[in-house]
Amino acid sequence: MSCDKNTDFESKCVHAGIDEYQYGPVVPPIYQTSTFKFESASHGGSLFKGEAEGYIYSRMLNPTVKALEDALAELEGGHKALACGSGMAAINTAITALVKSGDHVICSKAVYGPTSTLLATVFSKFNVAVSFVNTSDIQKVKDVVKPETKVIYVETPGNPTLEISDLEAISKLAHENDAKVVVDNTFMSPALQQPFDFGVDVVVHSMTKFLNGHADVVAGCIVVKDEETYLSVRKTLNQLGGVLEPFNAFLVHRGLKTLSLRMEKHSANAMIVAEYLEKHPLVEWVKFPGLKSHPQYEIGLKQHKNHSGIIAFELKGGIRAGEVLMNSVKLCQLAVSLGGVETLVQHPASMTHLTMGKESRETAGITDGLVRVSVGIENVNDLISDLEQALKAVEETMMQEV
Ligand SMILES: *Cc1c(COP(=O)(O)O)cnc(C)c1O
Repeated sequence: MSCDKNTDFESKCVHAGIDEYQYGPVVPPIYQTSTFKFESASHGGSLFKGEAEGYIYSRMLNPTVKALEDALAELEGGHKALACGSGMAAINTAITALVKSGDHVICSKAVYGPTSTLLATVFSKFNVAVSFVNTSDIQKVKDVVKPETKVIYVETPGNPTLEISDLEAISKLAHENDAKVVVDNTFMSPALQQPFDFGVDVVVHSMTKFLNGHADVVAGCIVVKDEETYLSVRKTLNQLGGVLEPFNAFLVHRGLKTLSLRMEKHSANAMIVAEYLEKHPLVEWVKFPGLKSHPQYEIGLKQHKNHSGIIAFELKGGIRAGEVLMNSVKLCQLAVSLGGVETLVQHPASMTHLTMGKESRETAGITDGLVRVSVGIENVNDLISDLEQALKAVEETMMQEV
């Protein structure tokens, strides 16, 4: 591997994790095999004892997956990484490895929906208690920390309202209480936020989003800082079984090569779209880490190298206005997920969170007019024109229906 301490992040994106292979390919071959031959019984034995280097069985480790894991550790500035079959597999594996019955977890209130459901419904069955608090307010975290707290799980910026949590302050508080900090870095990617620089212990990602970047793979990863945590998480992953397929690892590794470029373009486009939306008369408010109006703008400046591509905004006119906007966009695609090259728009109140009911939605910060945009890498003028015509359609409908 040609990367060293002085290699820039942009170059690491291109070269990290690429090893030497038979016949000299410049990208890792896809080792589409479930198992690997031993040279002899004693060779098999020494592989199992960990005395020889090599591969045994693809749930345990596979060369194509290992190439991606090496790249992820390098880009995130961690010790080692583990690739998982989805972001949720990564989150489940990481938390399972870190807690036991009787422990307590603190989790950001603004967090990816299935993560909060996992903690509240699955971990609670095994007597792991969870407190959901607004982690962008450190006092709220201090108020619930107790001797049993073993993990503080932070998503920053958080889903869907983009609150930014101070990772340095949370890590300090956690370590004084002998707890570990796990950060979901999906919204920023290592190109824009490096949680280990702020004392965080474990980083998880949905690689389905920016890391892969092309909306064609579901994948996740865990990055750790030390060998002890690595061994424990590796053992847990092997037992839970949520590993990544070699072909999907190959695709994510390909996506990583343009991560730096893509994050620059996502950020630049999103900044222009956020400023456009903030001035629009049909828009109540815009949340975007790059806007001075963001409540934790200063923490964002300390923690982020750029602002990424996710914008949340509140449309005037509630559910109906949101529906009309969704049905009127042409270039922007109407779909869940985020972080791909194409711009996606989502209106939780009429789609993903429809069945939740207005009251529970509002406790979760999901107002009727809330729209989330994952800004892609298209030409920004095309994006603005599309939003402009769709907002005009909203205005016309609202006038007709009054
Ligand atoms: C999508 C997402 C996840 C879950 O990842 P999957 O790959 O869909 O399992 C977790 N956290 C965040 C912030 C996400 O956006």
